[in-house]
Amino acid sequence: MKDTLKHRGKRNQLAEIVKEKGVTSETVLEAIRTIPRHLFLDSSFEDHAYQDKAFPIGAEQTISQPYTVAFQTSLLQINVGDKILEIGTGSGYQTAILLQLKAKVYTIERQLELFKKTNLFFNKMGYRPKKTIFGDGYKGLPEEAPFNGIIVTAGAPHVPKALLSQLAVGGKLVIPVGIDEQVMTLFTRTSEKEFEKKEFGSFRFVPLLENKN
Ligand code: SAH
Repeated sequence: MKDTLKHRGKRNQLAEIVKEKGVTSETVLEAIRTIPRHLFLDSSFEDHAYQDKAFPIGAEQTISQPYTVAFQTSLLQINVGDKILEIGTGSGYQTAILLQLKAKVYTIERQLELFKKTNLFFNKMGYRPKKTIFGDGYKGLPEEAPFNGIIVTAGAPHVPKALLSQLAVGGKLVIPVGIDEQVMTLFTRTSEKEFEKKEFGSFRFVPLLENKN
């Protein structure tokens, strides 16, 4: 599959939809205009790529809705060179958006099949996360901490303590919390021991699962 002017046109429209829904960050909107979402889906689903909808990607997982990706990303308030940990690599679309914002990205996936498939795709596309990890996101990545931002892209039944402890002071954790439905929650580490918590609207994600290995 290729990336054509037609695809770019559709992405501009998608960015407009995301903007109307309330995402104002111009750098995030520009990333939506830039990353070829159709290449993250099987070619037979190309037509679905620029609708503002989640979509199945195999292994019972989904590529998140563009609005959700944009909203979560804008809550992180990324600066160039920030160290960002993503939990739930999935299709890699969110990873690519973070890379487009010039973050140093570490990303963890617990499904081996998806982990392998998405790594091959990153190589093919020339997307260069700092590290891709096959493992359990509940534990975070202590050896690379602290992070300026941590983004969880699956619904968490509770907030993993490990993730809060791996934030730099000033760092942000964006996590959808809940079982059937999730409340988008932003934690900002205001000091070594203090966190500020803010809640946003409700969303639906596939569950953040405890690892089998
Ligand atoms: N960011 C992805 C969203 C994928 S859906 C994208 O843009 O496509 C959420 C992903 O989280 C799934 O791939 C799922 O396998 C993964 N996941 C679920 N529980 C996890 C855990 N404990 N650790 C790491 N990844 C997990």
